[in-house]
Amino acid sequence: MQVLWPILLALAGTLRAELPAPPPIGAVVEADERLFVVLRAPSKQDRSRAASLGLDIVDVAGASASGVATPAAVSRLRAAGYRIEKRESLRDANKGFPPADKAYHDYAQVQSALGKIAGAHPDFASLVELGTSVRGRKLTAIRFTKGAGKKPGALFVGNHHAREHLSTELPLLAAQWFADNASKPEVKAFLETRDVYFIPLLNPDGAEHDIESGRYAWHRKNMRPNSDGSVGVDLNRNYDSHWGEAGTSRWPSDDTYGGPSAFSEPESRALKAFLEARRNIQMMVSYHTSGELMLYPWSWSDEPLTGPEHEAFVAMGNKMAGWTGYRSQQSSELYPSSGDTCDWAWAARGVFCWTFELD
Ligand SMILES: [Zn+2]
Repeated sequence: MQVLWPILLALAGTLRAELPAPPPIGAVVEADERLFVVLRAPSKQDRSRAASLGLDIVDVAGASASGVATPAAVSRLRAAGYRIEKRESLRDANKGFPPADKAYHDYAQVQSALGKIAGAHPDFASLVELGTSVRGRKLTAIRFTKGAGKKPGALFVGNHHAREHLSTELPLLAAQWFADNASKPEVKAFLETRDVYFIPLLNPDGAEHDIESGRYAWHRKNMRPNSDGSVGVDLNRNYDSHWGEAGTSRWPSDDTYGGPSAFSEPESRALKAFLEARRNIQMMVSYHTSGELMLYPWSWSDEPLTGPEHEAFVAMGNKMAGWTGYRSQQSSELYPSSGDTCDWAWAARGVFCWTFELD
């Protein structure tokens, strides 16, 4: 994969420059009572426990963690002894966000762009429908390969988390770049020797909801109606790998809610079925924002991988760190979380799976 990596990772670096700055988050949807909080959580255990109590951690700075929580979750955190250093409504917290970005792609534009690429390059590009979302939107992959025969596969997935719109743009732009540069020798070699898939938008319902008012709703989850009247399951806590353990909330209204059971959601089930049907896929990147990190299993536990498998992840990480300036580390180093996409892909399928936190 050595040729592919610099291409894709270079795109991550150039995307910011190519796109105008994003729109102001400005205000959140009506009746959204969630709070932006900063609390003292010096250790990763503190942060993992805070996530279990419902805090969606957005940033870690020194001994403090900041993020989004419902008023009920804030009460839980206080009761558990956390010192809340700052709390404000999301509406107020969002004032400082950067100005508009019309170059980002909504669901219809993603679908249209993928359709155009496949339509223009039938000799090496094709679409694969892997399922439908809670609200019935198509989940679409674009595949790049030339000729027949079994080849090692790579999968690049964006937008498990709705509001992380940059994670959609990168795989979409990479797919476009592949198509536009198919005649270049290095890309041609890839098409002939690899089976490459991009799924830019795994959570279209959530991403659409996030932008439907014309202002970001700061939405993270899918759009599953929950038993308590709240909406959404955190798709990156919904995979069947130590589901429901550290870093996952059991309160449905929380942003880190893992769902009623592992693989309860059509979006995570679609990705599972997609991988199970394509055993040649050996590596995968799941894009998120933010932090300039490249994370490898495990996420659920501090326990490190061992032996040659661990060495392989570390070697890949070191190589990619040299190309990107991103930091490679075990996922649990920031804070353990369970039901994670890459933990499952590695444990169940043996896929060398990376979570990229773009910035
Ligand atoms: Zn994310």
